[in-house]
Amino acid sequence: MRARRQRRRGIKLKHLGMIRQAKGKTTRRPPPKKPSNNQKDPVGVYCRVRPLGAEDEECCIEVISNTTIQLHAPDGLKANRNGEFKETQYSFKKVFGIKTTQRELFADVAKPLVEDLIHCKNGLLFTYGVTGSGKTYTMTGSPGQGGLLPRSLDMIFNSIGPYQAKRYVFKPDDKNGMEVQNQVDALLDRQKRDSQTSVPKTPTTRRTDPEFADMISPEEACKAGGVDEDSSYSVFVSYIEIYNNYIYDLLEETPFDPIKPKPPQSKILREDQNHNMYVAGCTEVEVKSTEEAFEVFWRGQKKRRIANTQLNRESSRSHSVFIIKLAQAPLDADGDTVLQDKSQVNVSQLCLVDLAGSERTSRTRAEGSRLREAGNINQSLMTLRTCIEVLRENQMCGTNKMVPYRDSKVTHLFKNYFDGEGKVRMVVCVNPKADDYEETLLVMRFAEMTQEVEVARPVDRPICGFAAGRRQRNQAFKDELTHRLEERGGPVDGESPTVLNQLLQSFHPLPPCEISGPNDDVTLPRLIEALEKRHKIRQMMVEEYNKTANMLKSVLQEQDSNLLSKENFIQEQRGRLGEKDKMIQNQKNEIDRLEKKSKMLEYKIDILQKTTNIYEEDKRSLQHELESREQRLQREMSEKRRMETRMQGIVTDAKLKWEKECERRVNAKQLEMQNKLWVKDEKLKQLKAIVTEGKTENRQPQRPSREKDKVAAKRSVSPSPVPTGPLVRPLHRRSHSAGGERWVDHKPTTNVDLDTVLQPNIPNAIKVNAPNEKALSKCDKYVLTHQEFASDGEIQTKLIKGEVFKTRGGGQAVQFTDIETLKQENPLAASRKRRSSETGPDGEPMERNWTDVETRCSVAVEMRAGSSLGPGYQHHGYPKRRKP
Ligand code: ADP
Ligand code: MG
Repeated sequence: MRARRQRRRGIKLKHLGMIRQAKGKTTRRPPPKKPSNNQKDPVGVYCRVRPLGAEDEECCIEVISNTTIQLHAPDGLKANRNGEFKETQYSFKKVFGIKTTQRELFADVAKPLVEDLIHCKNGLLFTYGVTGSGKTYTMTGSPGQGGLLPRSLDMIFNSIGPYQAKRYVFKPDDKNGMEVQNQVDALLDRQKRDSQTSVPKTPTTRRTDPEFADMISPEEACKAGGVDEDSSYSVFVSYIEIYNNYIYDLLEETPFDPIKPKPPQSKILREDQNHNMYVAGCTEVEVKSTEEAFEVFWRGQKKRRIANTQLNRESSRSHSVFIIKLAQAPLDADGDTVLQDKSQVNVSQLCLVDLAGSERTSRTRAEGSRLREAGNINQSLMTLRTCIEVLRENQMCGTNKMVPYRDSKVTHLFKNYFDGEGKVRMVVCVNPKADDYEETLLVMRFAEMTQEVEVARPVDRPICGFAAGRRQRNQAFKDELTHRLEERGGPVDGESPTVLNQLLQSFHPLPPCEISGPNDDVTLPRLIEALEKRHKIRQMMVEEYNKTANMLKSVLQEQDSNLLSKENFIQEQRGRLGEKDKMIQNQKNEIDRLEKKSKMLEYKIDILQKTTNIYEEDKRSLQHELESREQRLQREMSEKRRMETRMQGIVTDAKLKWEKECERRVNAKQLEMQNKLWVKDEKLKQLKAIVTEGKTENRQPQRPSREKDKVAAKRSVSPSPVPTGPLVRPLHRRSHSAGGERWVDHKPTTNVDLDTVLQPNIPNAIKVNAPNEKALSKCDKYVLTHQEFASDGEIQTKLIKGEVFKTRGGGQAVQFTDIETLKQENPLAASRKRRSSETGPDGEPMERNWTDVETRCSVAVEMRAGSSLGPGYQHHGYPKRRKP
């Protein structure tokens, strides 16, 4: 948190409150050249308890120690609020009890601020409290009891008195800055002032000024140490009043029109080039003594009183600000006059503020415009409170909230003190009377909060003058001269008229020289005596004259010799100057040489820079290329990866497909084998029947004819899942002679076009994909092209042929009569196969095939209008069905 604070301080340093003058150097804003200062001090809050107005009043404050007070709720309040108001203690930097004198208070509170002022540091001192709590008493005081303001002024003049510059040497510009005038201009300004105003040449003394009468007793005078004797000082004072959030200049000289008095003109606030706030066009009066300063203060007070009476205002509702500005600048090399360099002028200021009463409006029972004004006054105190709150929050929590200084003139004017550096002190005035209890409570809370705000500690700014002690040396020289003159008994500066007077006084008037008679022997001798005396005196005077003349001569001679020695000194210095000039010339040459060299180097650097630029350009383009290539590579890689995954997908797909295909083929083969098995079984059964028949009848035919076999087979096919005989009989065969055979060529869509040579070619055929009653009704022959996988994986095409009959129900029935197998095969394997199929292991391959066909063809399907073909139509399926 500290680090954060310091960072914020860094920002704040730009707004430093010190009015150090830098004008004259450049017109630019001065860079923040101030030494970095990380130290902070809390706002010094002091508490002053005034004595009770009347002895018998109820008191609600008790001073516990010199730092703590305790508030007691008055009896009435305690009863009303159920003890909500307890006894609360508040601590301060210091608490001043009722017996504290103005002098003690000053020593603790304001003296350090005045010392700071003399050492070029700013200060702000304000009094805060309810009306009647003693703010004005503390700030201004009363006759015999001077407050902080007159004491501060007194201390300033006691300290810088002998080192003050002549009037108008320092002259405020109108932008919160300070200029140094040359001696002639200052003299002219002084003469103008003397002729224009009736200001007495010698300021009124403490004894003559009734307003000032014994505000500070001489024995109470104090002085600041460490005043720079080689600087010249000037004090300027301004006095302003802030009423109803308007600023009025109390020292402005306006011609008073008794017939139509003009209302006072308000002033505005401005920010100077160092970001310090100031009242634009505010009168700044140069004062040379405490008395003069106080006279100016009283002038302002008087104006304030008049304005308040004329405008029916209440003084407790206005804030008064007395600004003491101290300008200081080093003396020139001779130690006589102020150095004519504006940049060497330092201005520090001490603001003494007597704030308006902090009580709420309701208490004063204000009405109308008064109420509005009161609102504004309260508003400015409220803004002060808000500013303090925000400042405290910012400092404690490390936040950076905006402090609303601009919301009121009072806070805006003192923005620099809180934002920048300086010392801020507040005297909280309290009246211990019970009536003020609630207001006092609020005051205490504000004071407590204010103590937690920290302000940057001002840093020391030593004035850089010439060799120290010039003023002292000059004074020493003067003293020595007077001393020597005295030693010689000669007239001392300013004393010769007195010696002459003495001598002239010893001239007695001549006695009467009228001779009264011939025997008057008194007159003449008396005259003679007087004349002799006069003669003696004359001689003495001549002697004196000669003596003085001689002495003056010797002094002059001495001065001559001094002058001579000074001239010698000057000569010597000139010689040195010449040497220095030579040195400077040499150094200039050296600088020239170095400049040339530096130019040369700069040129080289330029070339190198250019080369570097080219290389860098190259590097950049190469890098660019590299990047693009990398990107391409990356793209290709990702493409490859994508392809890989795709290929993997395809491979797995194909694998899956083939696995399925294999499975399907295996199943088909299985079925086929089962079929074969069944046919064998059937055959065996028939054989068995024949054998048993032969046994019983003792006779048997050699071999059934094809036709017979067909019928036998038909008969033997029992049990058949498809209803046979009765369903299809009687069959009405179509006449073949009626006009050739017509075929229904049934090729299921699932068939694969094998593009082989052995394509069945049936002329005059109606080609269908599915059995179709309409087509069947027109034809008398039916052929189904059926494909299946053979055991060797080849596709076997079978042409299943049949005859179409009309059924009794009006439908069509097909009786299968023949199966032709078309098979594609490897020539080698084919020949082998063919052989084996011709002469099978049982030696009756043809018959077996025939039987197979016969068996199959025994199935007839009756097709009725609207009925779909049953599953029996798929000849693959029916061996299975026959099993049960
Ligand atoms: P404020 O400015 O706060 O309204 P004042 O300074 O005008 O109050 O004080 C009101 C009265 O109380 C004045 O008459 C003043 O002389 C008197 N007073 C205030 N403080 C003291 C004190 N510490 N000792 C003696 N009298 C005081
Ligand atoms: Mg007051």
